[in-house]
Amino acid sequence: MTFRDYAPAPESTAILKLQKSYGLFIDGAWSDGHGGSMTTISPATEKPIAEIALADAADVNRAVAAARKSYDTVWSKMGGAERGKYLFRIARLIQERAREFAVAETLDNGKPIRETRDIDIPLVAAWFFHYAGWADKLEFAGLGPKPSSLGVAGQIIPWNFPLLMLAWKVAPALAAGNTVVLKPAETTPLTALLFADVCQQAGLPAGVVNIIPGLGGVAGQALVEHSGINKIAFTGSTAVGRGIARTLAGTDTRLTLELGGKGANIIFDDAAMDEAVEGIINGIFFNQGHVCCAGSRLLVQENVQDEVVEKLTRRLSTLRLGDPLDKNTDIGAINSRAQLDRITAIAATGEAEGADRWTLDCEIPKAGFWFRPTIFTNVTTSHTVAKDEIFGPVLSVLSFRTPDEAIAKANNTPYGLSAGVWTNNASRMLRVVDSLRAGVVWANTFNQFDPTSPFGGYKESGYGREGGRHGLAAYLASGGAR
Ligand code: NAP
Ligand code: MG
Repeated sequence: MTFRDYAPAPESTAILKLQKSYGLFIDGAWSDGHGGSMTTISPATEKPIAEIALADAADVNRAVAAARKSYDTVWSKMGGAERGKYLFRIARLIQERAREFAVAETLDNGKPIRETRDIDIPLVAAWFFHYAGWADKLEFAGLGPKPSSLGVAGQIIPWNFPLLMLAWKVAPALAAGNTVVLKPAETTPLTALLFADVCQQAGLPAGVVNIIPGLGGVAGQALVEHSGINKIAFTGSTAVGRGIARTLAGTDTRLTLELGGKGANIIFDDAAMDEAVEGIINGIFFNQGHVCCAGSRLLVQENVQDEVVEKLTRRLSTLRLGDPLDKNTDIGAINSRAQLDRITAIAATGEAEGADRWTLDCEIPKAGFWFRPTIFTNVTTSHTVAKDEIFGPVLSVLSFRTPDEAIAKANNTPYGLSAGVWTNNASRMLRVVDSLRAGVVWANTFNQFDPTSPFGGYKESGYGREGGRHGLAAYLASGGAR
């Protein structure tokens, strides 16, 4: 076995001017963290990138105090148009520094540079542009004539789209007039720290954005439990989200939760097959399947199952797995050893429970965390791989005969974040789309994101919406009758 035959085109990391170590960004300045430190590594090589200070509970107190002070004295007093100018400035700086951010994200997260360059970072800029435009138009958000900001928002984000999840949280919060304390994920703090630099460059008033890397159980928990926080926005696992909801039950802290998923991609026999196959691959192998709205269950109409699986494996065999900094790479590294172990364990249950396993025949680099794209066929609804979120490059294929059976199987999950439907029959499309209990349903496409479009879950995938004017509701108190 050899690496696939192509000329490597690695992106240079020279554009990154990294420091050896990073502190916490509190009150517009860098400061020490008192919760120890950790080395952030590249999951593709296991080589260290930088030393990151971690926040303890006292650091969280300092950050919340800074956010409160800037909310009371500056940010809540500023007009919307003025706040919007800062957000436009941040958006433009992200565009100017897009290459640097793409390289940093790929290095820290392990996802292909093609994705960070063409998807993650452009979407980050788009999110800031979108919400910059809202800052002086909040009365049109549908929340009444004078909606008001909440105060200080605590934001906790995962490692799968580090800077994009920051943008989803910070941009609407600031547009709505709140200040923020954000805790990035342990394994991917780098772009959030570079973002602090952008805030300084944009001249954002001190304390409006505070970035505090730290451990979930320490800094994350202290943020959630802090009585000076008016709103918590969380994206991550359903287990942690449930704990946060428990902690906040009975308090006046507002909460939105963006949790796990087990999205169904439903393909009917009349679908445009080649496009559907591309969509299925994008649905589960984009970002190594580290996507909460991934199409991790393929529901395929029985009479075309063999054809679809054959096309899928043929197309997958042309994908290139390897160095994420290489512009030709389609599939990058798994974000951490812990995540690799989780994926490996759950994939093993697939075989143990009797599903058929197909694995992409490709070499994997010696260092780093890698998982070969995997497809399980002959999966039934009782199999673990059909039920549990894997959060990795693993697709489970189930079949159906009728639209009603497809709908029932798609909805047979405690999750409800995403779904996709592939058919050229418009009336069937409308009926099926309407019957799916999922926050986002894509029609003849998958994994498309746009700042104007609300995103969020049904059932155990959480509550609240991010994106568009719906996303503003999470950061505003209603201003009275409509
Ligand atoms: P996670 O533990 O829920 O982490 C998400 C964020 O919450 C991280 O910043 C984490 O900090 C923090 N956190 C952890 N424990 C906390 C606590 N007790 N209080 C407050 N904050 C806390 O998710 P994960 O460990 O990264 O991944 C586990 C599984 O979650 C994945 O396999 C996947 O199924 C799911 N997941 C879903 C999404 C999504 O977008 N819906 C994203 C990521 C993961 P640390 O980084 O220090 O842990
Ligand atoms: Mg890292």
